[in-house]
Amino acid sequence: METIYLDHNATTPTDERVVEAMLPYFTRRFANPSSGYGIASDARRAAEDARVTVADVLNTSPHSIVFTSGGTESDNIAIKGVALRNLDRRGHIVTTRVEHHAVLRTCEYLRDRLGFEVSFLDVDPNGRVAPESVAAAIRHDTLLVTIMLANNEVGVLEPVREIAALARGKGVLTHTDAVQAVGKVPVDVDDLGVDLLSLSGHKLYGPKGIGALYVRPGVEFDPLAHGGGHERGLRPGTENVPGIVGLAAAMRLAEQDLDAEMKRLRDLTLRLEEGISGSIEDVTIHSESAPRIPGTTNIAFHYVEGESVALSLDMEGVSVSTGSACTTDTAQPSHVLSAMGVAPGVAQGSVRFGLGRHTTAGEIDRVVEVLPGIIARLRSMSPLYRPKDERR
Ligand code: PLP
Repeated sequence: METIYLDHNATTPTDERVVEAMLPYFTRRFANPSSGYGIASDARRAAEDARVTVADVLNTSPHSIVFTSGGTESDNIAIKGVALRNLDRRGHIVTTRVEHHAVLRTCEYLRDRLGFEVSFLDVDPNGRVAPESVAAAIRHDTLLVTIMLANNEVGVLEPVREIAALARGKGVLTHTDAVQAVGKVPVDVDDLGVDLLSLSGHKLYGPKGIGALYVRPGVEFDPLAHGGGHERGLRPGTENVPGIVGLAAAMRLAEQDLDAEMKRLRDLTLRLEEGISGSIEDVTIHSESAPRIPGTTNIAFHYVEGESVALSLDMEGVSVSTGSACTTDTAQPSHVLSAMGVAPGVAQGSVRFGLGRHTTAGEIDRVVEVLPGIIARLRSMSPLYRPKDERR
């Protein structure tokens, strides 16, 4: 049975062309870029060329790019780094209730262990935060606003451009977790106006274990790790040259086809949403009317467990998840859907479909074909369910 992979928000396959670009840096060009001899200059040049590419795709200058091990580390370096820089006076951080745990847990740590204050802002039923509530939350001691660009569970795009402009007007730094946005929508750091931006290779057909942090020149933060002078001392440790080369290659590839791929994924997402809502009663498409990244749709099948739907789809060879890959081991309803005001029972019945580069219309049609039977079977076992015509 061919697998239909619809969990591209969790991770993506590394593009063959990316693997090809990386391979020499494991073998022939293995040298440590910090070494002084001739063969090291190959590795050094490759990493610096990659930095130029990553910066170019984000429309910024190479010295504002710091390579990291991925999205989680970039988020931690940005948020804890700014906080530690201000450790003597502590201060206040503004974020939302729908962030990825890499941001939420970091903020909670700073609050609980180091005495920083954090405002976790509410969102509307689509999962969007209002720029006005960010403005209202900023205080005289606010150090940082950290709000994601695209949500990993529902795909909604946050108004980061407006937020960064108003934060800057009040002299406050803005960080955005753009892990789910880079490679899926155009991301121009200049236009966004943010001071810090996190991205991750494995979400955009690059390898796992590589990411980057954009740092606007002049923004000061303390490094979390101490060691050599790599990445200007902001993230010491021997560079992951194959990963860095792979990240750059992946970002360039994503950029090349972006407009066409966005349209293709939007069309396929609509095909899936229309197919499902046309053949199954009592479904809710979360954030349906809000701007979203192409390819992500989170759908609640009322009266059933999302986990059971995912399991049944898996038996049909379809891989989906019920939300963030990092939280599937907890039985709690998604913190994102809860923050959006979705009732716990409906949140528990939600499934995230993450379409990607290799998803075809035929695959979508196959999912639309098998789902009604799965949902009907699960509902027939559900004590909560009554068919619509039997309801009063
Ligand atoms: N931020 C968001 C929005 C994500 O979706 C993820 C991954 O799921 C991360 C951060 C963490 O990225 P990484 O897996 O590269 O550490």
